[in-house]
Amino acid sequence: MNAIRFTCQTGCTQCCDQKGNVYLTEADLKRAAAFVGMTAAAFEAKYVYRTRHEMRFRKPRNKQCSFLEGHGCGIHPAKPTQCRTFPFWPEIVERKETWNRTAHYCPGIGKGPLIQIGTAMETAEEQRRAYPEMYK
Ligand code: SF4
Ligand code: SF4
Repeated sequence: MNAIRFTCQTGCTQCCDQKGNVYLTEADLKRAAAFVGMTAAAFEAKYVYRTRHEMRFRKPRNKQCSFLEGHGCGIHPAKPTQCRTFPFWPEIVERKETWNRTAHYCPGIGKGPLIQIGTAMETAEEQRRAYPEMYK
C-alpha cells in the first residue's frame, strides 16, 4: 500500500466495541482525569485497573466502555492513545489484509482524503511507543 483513505465517521462507535481492553499510558490517565474534572488518583480508583506493567479501563457490566455514550465517546478530546490512533495500529496498517479486514467494521476505511502510508506508519509508531508491553 502506498496510500490509503480514511476519515472517521461522525457518531460511529463501532471500533469501541471491537477494541477489547482499552489501555492507558500515564499521560492518558492524567489527560482523561483532567477532562472530567477529577484528580488522577480519583479517576484511577474509579475507572482504571492497574497491574505491574499496564493500566486499562475497568469494563462496566452493561457496556464496552464507561465513556461510550449514544452519540460517541464522552471523553473524545482526551481519549486514550489507542483510541486516538485507531485504525493506524501496527497490526492493522502494516498489512493490507488486516487493513481490509478492519474495514468490515470501520466504515471510515476507504473513505476521505488520501493519506500517505508514511504518515499512517508514524501514527503506528506512536501507538507502538505508547504501549511497549503490547508490542514487545
Ligand atoms: S469504527 Fe472507524 S469510523 Fe467508526 S468511530 Fe471507529 S475509527 Fe471512526
Ligand atoms: S475511551 Fe472513548 S473512544 Fe475509547 S473505547 Fe471508550 S468510548 Fe471508545
